[in-house]
Amino acid sequence: MHKALRHEPDRPKSVLLIDIDGISGRILNSLVESTRKYRLIITRTFADGMLCQKQNECDVILLACNKRQPPLPKIIQKLHQFRPEVPIIALGINISDKYGEELLKANAFDYISVTKYSTELLNRAIRYAILSAEQQHKIVELRDTDALTGLGNRQLFLKLLAEKLEQNEQSSRKLAIVSIDINNFRSLNSRFGQHSGDMVVAEMGKRISTSVPEDTLVARLGNDEFALIVECSPYEDGKRVVSNMLKNIAANLHQPFRYGHNEMQINCSMGIAFSPEHGFEVEQLIHRAVLARQESKKAFETKFTFFHEGLDDKEDLYSDLAPEIAHALRSNQFVLHYQPQIDVRTGQIIGAETLIRWNHPERGLLYPDSFIPLCEQVGLIVPIGYWIIHQACMDLNTLQKQGIFLKHLGVNLSFRQFGDDQLVPTIKRILERTGVDTSVLELELTESTLHDDEDHILACLDSLSETGLSFSLDDFGTGYSSFSLLQKLPIDTIKIDRSFITDVTTSEDDAKIVRAIINLSHNMGKKVIAEGVETQNQLDFLVENNCDMVQGYFFSRPVEFSTFRHTLEHCAEAI
Ligand code: C2E
Ligand code: CA
Ligand code: CA
Repeated sequence: MHKALRHEPDRPKSVLLIDIDGISGRILNSLVESTRKYRLIITRTFADGMLCQKQNECDVILLACNKRQPPLPKIIQKLHQFRPEVPIIALGINISDKYGEELLKANAFDYISVTKYSTELLNRAIRYAILSAEQQHKIVELRDTDALTGLGNRQLFLKLLAEKLEQNEQSSRKLAIVSIDINNFRSLNSRFGQHSGDMVVAEMGKRISTSVPEDTLVARLGNDEFALIVECSPYEDGKRVVSNMLKNIAANLHQPFRYGHNEMQINCSMGIAFSPEHGFEVEQLIHRAVLARQESKKAFETKFTFFHEGLDDKEDLYSDLAPEIAHALRSNQFVLHYQPQIDVRTGQIIGAETLIRWNHPERGLLYPDSFIPLCEQVGLIVPIGYWIIHQACMDLNTLQKQGIFLKHLGVNLSFRQFGDDQLVPTIKRILERTGVDTSVLELELTESTLHDDEDHILACLDSLSETGLSFSLDDFGTGYSSFSLLQKLPIDTIKIDRSFITDVTTSEDDAKIVRAIINLSHNMGKKVIAEGVETQNQLDFLVENNCDMVQGYFFSRPVEFSTFRHTLEHCAEAI
């Protein structure tokens, strides 16, 4: 159970008597008598009463006030606002029915007129008040608790965060808001079923709770999303405190999760925002912690990120550009450029890679790094991805009509496109409609693709392979694909990342890596392309080491389709 709702039914109950102008000794005696099984606290002023209420966690308040100064309903209202969960019983000399109504309206739980006072009456009133408060508590507990984990839910989290932020206004304390979720929860659910998903979430809640100090609030905000509120004293280095805590959580979450015979490993993304540094408002702080968490997600491994201003800027840029990108797609502002690929043995162009550009009406030609991540983030990569494949097929047909036959044409596929359940049928439809020679098409995947839902990706690749197209693995060496994974996937070509080629002639380490990649790939029956070849020396090294194909500025930068076509026309016979 979450700490904020921890309830101790066995603790002896306390009755707080706020006795403003002295009730008669007779009543006081009987009161002491009837409250024997309770802990009785007596104060003589309203202010002391408030203080007591704050410090003592009293269960019932008896408010005795004979005169009408200060007016009883006002005091009740104030006490109630301060702690609505503590019932208040008003005691007065002669409370008429009408005045009694007024007291109830002001949120008194009950009232007793001294004229009708009896020990039994008071006893009963106290008993009911406590019982009712307990029931009320139960309801609140159910309303604020997440059933799966027993932790606080979103509603409670928002309420407590608001309270803590308000308290913070008077102190120089720091609050850290941490947002945590699982990196591939959707695929975990679809792979192992909803039950195991629930199990992981419940277990995750436990592991997070046991990894943090007692006074840290842990809540489940939804699905696999958890949040924490960490209070740091002004003398502590907040970042260090939180880092240590999150490292602890990460270590605990890294242990495998067991469900039946299944063993699952999860990766999490975490984001942190601080108050007052990053805001004073509940919504803003949560939003910023989530933005930081999304930044962590890009790593595909367990990671935490502290919010920084740049993350907001990125978001502004996204919201500015998203409608513009959708418009660009409708008004044909995207173009495909082609970068030739050369057969190392013959020195001839045997293929190309398509690379998208945005012909922006005001900003000129934009390169993919400035808008593809954005398209991925807002989901526009799906329609743009289809446009790219369609356009590449059309261009390929244009070449074929001219009698130019490429051996292969690489088209980049974003890992986000696999999230679209229409990916396979849509690509198949494009291939059918354009009637393209599918054996030429090679979809370029990055290693990040393979870390999503392996079964889902494999099913998509297998189904797409049936059409005759093939796959290559882009940027090889930068991620962490194992060769055993490569063996399982229908991948024909490995593209060695440019970063290894850059220093291949000067760094013995890079040279070793490139040699090893070429050899292992060949042993697995896969072809190898080296990317980013810029010098003769690099080319010589690759020729010497039996690389199959090369691509890079040494031969050509990516060029417009018409330029590429003209180049090919000149060496058509060679192809
Ligand atoms: P990538 O798939 O690794 O593409 C190769 C990038 O390296 C291209 O950058 C290309 O212009 C650049 N390049 C090629 N040869 C050399 C060289 O010799 N030296 C140097 N310094 N760079 C070289 P570009 O066109 O800016 O594309 C960047 C990335 O954007 C691509 O990396 C790819 O991940 C993504 N991208 C490009 N087009 C598409 C597309 O149509 N769809 C998707 N999903 N992503 C694309
Ligand atoms: Ca590529
Ligand atoms: Ca690449």
